[in-house]
Amino acid sequence: MAGNPRNGRPYRRLVATMKATGHPCWICGHNIPANVDGRTHPLAFTLDHLVPLSRGGDLLDPANARSAHRRCNSSRGNRTAPRVQQRASRRW
Ligand SMILES: [Zn+2]
Repeated sequence: MAGNPRNGRPYRRLVATMKATGHPCWICGHNIPANVDGRTHPLAFTLDHLVPLSRGGDLLDPANARSAHRRCNSSRGNRTAPRVQQRASRRW
């Protein structure tokens, strides 16, 4: 019964709270428009995390939550994910 926590009520409440605060995107610093389609628009609000979940960040901790554009959030994720996978054990 362990579903995706992003579908849970606490997570959705956190998303709604963060969106309502109207903070600008923490990645690029520009305002996030509220009247765009959140599922498709590149500048739509998304909930990002200061400490990525893959690094042990808390999905539901408001202190770890940041507002971000969809575009910024996904580009940041694409950039950091491969580096996390890299092994740091290559010694010459
Ligand atoms: Zn942005």
